[in-house]
Amino acid sequence: MLNQSFNGGIVIDSPHPVEVVEIILAPLPDKVVLPLQQRIGGEAIPCVSVGDKVLTGQVIAKTDDYFCVPIHASISGTVVIIDDQTIPHKSGLRSKCITIESDGKDQWIEHTGCGVDFLHCDQATMIKYIQASGIVGLGGAGFPAHAKLEGIQDCHTLVINGTECEPGIMCDDALMQHHPRDVIRGVEILLHICGAQRAVIAVEDDKQEALNSLLMHCHDDRISIEQIPTKYTSGAEKLLIKVLLGIEVPSGKFAIDIGVICQNVSTTKAIFDAVVENKPLVSRIVTVTGSGVKSPNNYEVRLGASFEHIVSMANPNTNHHSVRMGGMMMGVDVETTRMPICKITNCIFVNNIETKPNTQECIRCGQCNQVCPVNLLPQQLYWYAKNENTDKAMDYNLADCIECRCCDYVCPSHIPLAEYFSFAKALHRKTTEDQYRTDIARERFEFREYRLERTKQERAKMMAAKKEELKKKMANDKAQKGKIAAAMARVKKTKKVSDDVQ
Ligand code: SF4
Ligand code: SF4
Repeated sequence: MLNQSFNGGIVIDSPHPVEVVEIILAPLPDKVVLPLQQRIGGEAIPCVSVGDKVLTGQVIAKTDDYFCVPIHASISGTVVIIDDQTIPHKSGLRSKCITIESDGKDQWIEHTGCGVDFLHCDQATMIKYIQASGIVGLGGAGFPAHAKLEGIQDCHTLVINGTECEPGIMCDDALMQHHPRDVIRGVEILLHICGAQRAVIAVEDDKQEALNSLLMHCHDDRISIEQIPTKYTSGAEKLLIKVLLGIEVPSGKFAIDIGVICQNVSTTKAIFDAVVENKPLVSRIVTVTGSGVKSPNNYEVRLGASFEHIVSMANPNTNHHSVRMGGMMMGVDVETTRMPICKITNCIFVNNIETKPNTQECIRCGQCNQVCPVNLLPQQLYWYAKNENTDKAMDYNLADCIECRCCDYVCPSHIPLAEYFSFAKALHRKTTEDQYRTDIARERFEFREYRLERTKQERAKMMAAKKEELKKKMANDKAQKGKIAAAMARVKKTKKVSDDVQ
């Protein structure tokens, strides 16, 4: 196996390291708020009403959208309200949510899975359980797991991403340390589904305990566990594949196009829970860290519990804080800790508020170009993005930018480069969509004109044919009449001859 690195990227020490990486079970929340809008796809439709009693794991909303999964009650209790609430998303938008008040009993609804001896289940059945259990990518992407697995052909390698996507996040490390058996069984399930001959679990080289735990529980020759250098952004799918397998995923293509399936390690454990333990996804492990908490650690918490439910357990100081969902690099700032934890909430950063340095002019130092992990030229892109010249930015492969913020991080002028790139991409999408709409409108107009002209010509042709037909008919009728008159004249003549003879 090739074990390569990639150009660029940055090494950032964990900003708030802990001595022992634990998973602390958070108490059952008094209430949960479950958004019906998922990361992608349409909004789910509630199948419960206010006042209904629900059990933990019961489906409370669903949709026919293929890219969505059902939403389950994460506690047992009563549905108290269905209304619009602010959800943790960079748009700051509100979405319809179902609020459940706990009855304190945590009574579960029964679910069906394949059980411990899962090999008797076929792939389609397993994928059905995975979708029905509400599993999406827990690494932060939120892409539905079943959609990644359905219809797979020619997959030779399964890659399990055990790298933390950003410095400071510890939830996957905690999972590998404390649930190694379930992770390995999850990998076996995935191998059964995708038919790959081998699986590689990637673990960063600063996570020795996680590596040891996995090695201790792995007795399947098809599975290997590889240490990779701890470098941000090695968790990005394409880069991880390059580092682990030495294979480049071409621009504009996906991992599966080169026969590789990539799943996050927490998603893999959730798949094990769904298929073997018959449990839908109703909780997740969340890292709480940052300069604003005295006891950073990982908490297993029910989905829909508020951020403050677990932030309060991490011993926050009394300063004013800024709160960020996700990592320090690619996370999203949120207004308040009264937001619900959702499936993609892998980390909550609580920081003391600090004054941000002012942005200066670009001094053309080129440092941003050196750290870009996908080999772009951020300095050049910045120039085009700033001037809203998105066509030129696209020529410089703006679409490949993964918005990792490595360029921001090293920029001595503190220019928020990734924000410019995100804006330029959105602008380009809009311009392209507008252009597309204009093209479609023009095509529709041209087609209508063509259709009208064609109808006119067809009608004229039809009228000419009818006229011709009528002409022929009239000539026929005339000839017929002549024949009849001649016949009648003959009969008359014959009759006269006969009368004369008599
Ligand atoms: S790092 Fe900042 S200052 Fe240096 S070239 Fe890039 S954008 Fe300009
Ligand atoms: S944000 Fe984009 S341009 Fe900047 S380093 Fe990351 S991938 Fe490269």
